[in-house]
Amino acid sequence: MDSEQFRDAAKGAIDEIATYYDNIADKSVLPSVTPGYLRKLIPESAPEEGESWETIQSDIDRVVMPGLTHWQSPKFMAFFPCNSSFPAMLGDMYSGAFNAAAFNWICSPAITELETVVMDWVAKLIGLPDAFLSQGEGGGIIQGTASEVIVTALVAARERVIRRRLSDMPEGEEKLDAAADLRGKLVAMGSEHAHSSTQKAAIIAGTRFRTISAPADNGFSVSAASLRKTIQECEAKGLIPFYFTATLGSTSTCAVDDLAGIAELAKEYPDIWIHVDAAYAGSALVCPEYQHHCPPIAHFDSFNFNLHKWLLVNFDCSAFFIKRRKDLIDTYSITPSYLRNEFTESGLVTDYRDWQIPLGRRFRSLKVWFVLRSYGVKGLQAFIRKHIALGEYFAFQLKTRQDLFQVTTDAAFGLVTFQVKPAPPSPSGGQADRPNPRHEAWTSDFTPSGEAQWREDCNAVTKKVYEKINSQGEFYISSSVVCGIYIIRIVSANTAAEEKYLQMVFERLVEAAEEERGGKA
Ligand code: PLP
Repeated sequence: MDSEQFRDAAKGAIDEIATYYDNIADKSVLPSVTPGYLRKLIPESAPEEGESWETIQSDIDRVVMPGLTHWQSPKFMAFFPCNSSFPAMLGDMYSGAFNAAAFNWICSPAITELETVVMDWVAKLIGLPDAFLSQGEGGGIIQGTASEVIVTALVAARERVIRRRLSDMPEGEEKLDAAADLRGKLVAMGSEHAHSSTQKAAIIAGTRFRTISAPADNGFSVSAASLRKTIQECEAKGLIPFYFTATLGSTSTCAVDDLAGIAELAKEYPDIWIHVDAAYAGSALVCPEYQHHCPPIAHFDSFNFNLHKWLLVNFDCSAFFIKRRKDLIDTYSITPSYLRNEFTESGLVTDYRDWQIPLGRRFRSLKVWFVLRSYGVKGLQAFIRKHIALGEYFAFQLKTRQDLFQVTTDAAFGLVTFQVKPAPPSPSGGQADRPNPRHEAWTSDFTPSGEAQWREDCNAVTKKVYEKINSQGEFYISSSVVCGIYIIRIVSANTAAEEKYLQMVFERLVEAAEEERGGKA
């Protein structure tokens, strides 16, 4: 393809993409294909001769479209959103065009310098404490995903605690043995509701992992007292807690750990690296009414949130902020001769390869820059507030049918979780000893065995309703289990989200709940 052909092809592709977005609400959000569908549609191996763009492009409709789950559809309400925007797509297009692997400053100064400045913009936008700005000892870097960030932080935490504990020992075999011995005792920690990425990071780092209890009666959030208890239990066994992921917006319910209490506790344990994972909910910090979460973060080591979830920057874009960039550089900076250059030696430039696991890196700041400038702070705030309001609207809807639904966690950052109540006992149905499921608060007033049975029934009917909605393919919702409670999660927070779609999914839920409970209540 030459540049002239590229011009034509790109125009056609953009036209097709714009049409896709114009019509996205009409598509069934979930595909109806069966596993392995795609292999049957394309040849077993790559073509010998190159094909025309027309032939290739036509396969978007024939091969790709039938198997797409439409994350940008307003009927997508599962997991967390993965938002896109046209300015971000343009940023990705330029990034693809320049296609540089900017690991060292000199490999493309614009890529490094724009990232540094734009990450400062983002830090200010979300009200992060100044310690995370690049003008001081901190700074921000864009990573692919929150999981990558957490591995990067956790491994750096592991190396930091070892460096600190063995700082008096001379280099040599004895120090290596001592480090190996320490590594075997290290414990990473996270809420029982922390995203699985923390446990995965501990596996990658070869450390132990302990969950901290975050019970329902504490809003599924980790308290400082329960973190302290786990730390003390570890220490009593001769283990060394060295890392904790505090969650700001847990995956299942958007719970926020007690950041203020944990910040106080952190002062007693300076060797424990505390990372705040705000993968989804962090975007809400663009609104001043959410920035009360920020001051405690000044006492922690690092913070991340995914602009690709809720802040209109296309996947992938996870912002990772660090209070002392030296903590990363001390772990990740290895400079073989082939990477040496006068600018690195001068100490005046940032080489982001020293802050991350991979060497090469894409020009991701461009799409962030485009989004921040296209929407402006006010536009981003309006975008977030719209979804917060949609969450509240949906929680309100559920509460209009308290005979059918029990809200488990009220709207938080746009996410609502709930259960379907089981059918009431029929007077002649042999269920007379069962508690009344129309009960408002299912955690009180029941006998212990009645409550256990009710919970079980509640979980079963909730799961059935959840499965029914997704099997219909029109809407995509997700579920989770927290502290033994099976919940349906609804979050409608992409660009196309509108109240009318929440009204529609609510009607489907009512129908499904009534059916599963055996006829209209
Ligand atoms: N942390 C939290 C709280 C999440 O909800 C998620 C995903 O939803 C992640 C981490 C992992 O995100 P990523 O896909 O960017 O690794």
